Amino acid sequence: MTKRLVLLALPLLACLCCVAGTVGAIAPINHSGWYGYSPDYGPGDGEPPEGGNCDNAGVAYPDNPFGGWPVDYEPEWGLVTFYYCNIYPDGSPHWGVDLAVPEGSTILATTDRAIVRQVVCPDNEYDCWNYGMGRYVQIEAQIRVDDYDACVESHAGDTEADDCWINSGWLATYMHLESATVSDSQIVHRGEALGFTGNSGNSNGAHLHYQLNSPAVGAVDPAPSMFGE
Ligand SMILES: [Zn+2]
Repeated sequence: MTKRLVLLALPLLACLCCVAGTVGAIAPINHSGWYGYSPDYGPGDGEPPEGGNCDNAGVAYPDNPFGGWPVDYEPEWGLVTFYYCNIYPDGSPHWGVDLAVPEGSTILATTDRAIVRQVVCPDNEYDCWNYGMGRYVQIEAQIRVDDYDACVESHAGDTEADDCWINSGWLATYMHLESATVSDSQIVHRGEALGFTGNSGNSNGAHLHYQLNSPAVGAVDPAPSMFGE
């Protein structure tokens, strides 16, 4: 309900951000000073996260291991310029939540423990188009094994023993970054920095595109999990 009210109050900023799940749907913008990379790709070109289903807008998933605000900036729905399943001018749905936070804001891991799955355009020296998604970091949440306590005990009390954590299949993707500060396969924890917000890819103002993907249903609405952790 809050979300809908805020939406009505917001001016239409028409933030053309990313094209997650709709690769190729948006015409390339003419970037000057491109450093020689193709505007359609980028160094470290990655595997785009899937789209979802707009029937799932506003749905909270009990098995979603992600929660909390994804950037070190005061949580506020007024920062949202584009919600899950808001529609692009070409008619395609938006599969994440866009937060208009200043360039250089720190993006944060939003789950207890995760493994870095992709750092697309890891060389922060270069601009990055990447189908419009720009430079991005994607993490997969890890969850405790069923017999976690016994597992930790069998590892001399090491709560971080790799054996005691399994990959959940749940992904969080942070797009349009200025820079990334993590690397592939790195383990990160809640509140740890992953990089800094920017304006890379198809973006007309510094913002973060935050997207959550369930292994069962594809992209889900991040909004229900973004407060309260
Ligand atoms: Zn977006």
